[in-house]
Amino acid sequence: MVATANYDAVIIGGGHNGLVCGAYLAKAGKKVLVLERRDILGGASATEEIWPGYKVNTAAHMLSLMQPKIVLDLELQKFGYEAVPVPPGVHLVEGVGPVVLWKEQERLCAEFARFSKRDAEAYPKFQAHLARMAPIFRRLLWQVPIDPSDMSPRNLLRLAGLGWRNRDALPVFHDLMDLVSMSVHDYVARWFDSEEVRIIVGYYPAGAAGQSTSIHTPGTAYLLLRNHMRDGSNPAGGTGLSRGGMGTIPTAIAASGARFGLETRTGAEVEEVIVENGRAVGVRMVGGEVIRARAVISNASSQHLFADLVPKSAAPEDFRRAVTGIHGTVTNFKIHLAVEKPIPFAGLKEAGYGDRYPVQVTLAPSLSYVEKAYADMRSGRISERPYMTVQTPTLADRTLAPEGKHIISIYGGHFPAGAGSDQTAAAREQLFERVMDTIALHAPDFDRHWLHRQIMLPSDYEEIFRLPGGSPHHGDLTFDQLFFRRPVRGYADYTTPVQGLFLCGASAHPGGGVTGVPGFNAARVVQRSL
Ligand SMILES: Cc1cc2nc3c(=O)[nH]c(=O)nc-3n(C[C@H](O)[C@H](O)[C@H](O)COP(=O)(O)OP(=O)(O)OC[C@H]3O[C@@H](n4cnc5c(N)ncnc54)[C@H](O)[C@@H]3O)c2cc1C
Repeated sequence: MVATANYDAVIIGGGHNGLVCGAYLAKAGKKVLVLERRDILGGASATEEIWPGYKVNTAAHMLSLMQPKIVLDLELQKFGYEAVPVPPGVHLVEGVGPVVLWKEQERLCAEFARFSKRDAEAYPKFQAHLARMAPIFRRLLWQVPIDPSDMSPRNLLRLAGLGWRNRDALPVFHDLMDLVSMSVHDYVARWFDSEEVRIIVGYYPAGAAGQSTSIHTPGTAYLLLRNHMRDGSNPAGGTGLSRGGMGTIPTAIAASGARFGLETRTGAEVEEVIVENGRAVGVRMVGGEVIRARAVISNASSQHLFADLVPKSAAPEDFRRAVTGIHGTVTNFKIHLAVEKPIPFAGLKEAGYGDRYPVQVTLAPSLSYVEKAYADMRSGRISERPYMTVQTPTLADRTLAPEGKHIISIYGGHFPAGAGSDQTAAAREQLFERVMDTIALHAPDFDRHWLHRQIMLPSDYEEIFRLPGGSPHHGDLTFDQLFFRRPVRGYADYTTPVQGLFLCGASAHPGGGVTGVPGFNAARVVQRSL
């Protein structure tokens, strides 16, 4: 079957980045079609009614990185985008119990002073230190990476321009290098003496980021900057939850793009990228339909694209090997529960939280606890005591569940993945029991009663969302796979060795997270080629 319409661009995948790319191209007057294999748009930014009346964020759960520029350019607030602020989180710390993560720095430092006066004094300096580097990284987000090994005069000029525009990075050059090359363990140890402050500050890179790394892996300190990657001081609103769930974001992007003629199709799986004379000229769908376009853009991961969709002969062997070698086989799980009441963690009142339940609780008592959970997994076992982030979004957004009911999502580590690992129903059950047992240690009155339950393993993220190795980021965010090396050296500018074939998803710079940036940058590159 041959489609009648020809497009300027066809986009494989309706994740939020595919939609951002499509919306900007459509806004620029291009005729664009987004093809999504699932029955819903959004990829890993999805909200699904998996039980009647319950809207569950089946993958991403926090609105923390979506870039204000894109929200404002595409007027997403007109189409339902809304950030719901959340009250301060709580961290359960070894030998201490709940520590409230007050948003006011002075109040947080007063908590830290309980563990170390020196750490309490160091914390504002640490934040100022990150804040000094953040604008440089924020600027680099929007930069189409330039290959430093390309010595052509044109490229040398571009490199010189990049250097000049970022000359304010030179005085902090060594700090930047430390951040992108050191492990989170070593980095926080440089700043803080107490184990309590180290785990609170280092938790995201240590465990919550969805990487295949340990706390000792070089380059993991970079993710300490994550919270600084979005400037919330503007009309696009702050961070927190996405009202109606994370799926509201892609829905809003698609609706915004539709004003400019952006077409989207769900239940539309691409089987092959059609390459003629070294150039991508369209796609063949499962079922045989052919859709031709001047540019083919992949929101699907580079791993899936080059393993399954592009004919082997179309890309050089060394490139394909490099793509196959991208690391990021993750071992994080996510459990969703429908319950009648939130988990009653002990000690909240005494910690100054009052009678409220926190929307987000981090159960990661120490860095060595997180590392032990990792070590269990490395030796092939489900972590005996998993660490986890427990979120009850229904405490802040009542649109997600029926009256009087709650959703709890538990994101943590680890469940062994990859070849030879036990993925049976019994192993899932064992994971669930360990998670429940671990929570019960911190919430003795937790009755474990649930109405509905979903256990998501990395293999589920691979199968349902087609995330390579279950990686939320389409590959780890470590220095060897960042900037001009993402997804692989020589092709960080959203192009591929196949002419007319581009990348626009988390595989490309600056990587994963619901940011919209890969989609935006790719749209600029594709537009120039059309
Ligand atoms: C468990 C989990 C928790 C996370 N938590 C957060 C969080 O709290 N905050 C945050 O900012 N980020 C979070 N992330 C990361 C974030 O969700 C992703 O990095 C981001 O959504 C990736 O977006 P994308 O559009 O680049 O790719 P994807 O969302 O992966 O979209 C790619 C799309 O391509 C489609 N596709 C693939 N192959 C084909 C094909 N052959 N034909 C047609 N379509 C195809 C897929 O179905 C998918 O919809 C989380 C991710 C996971 C998995």
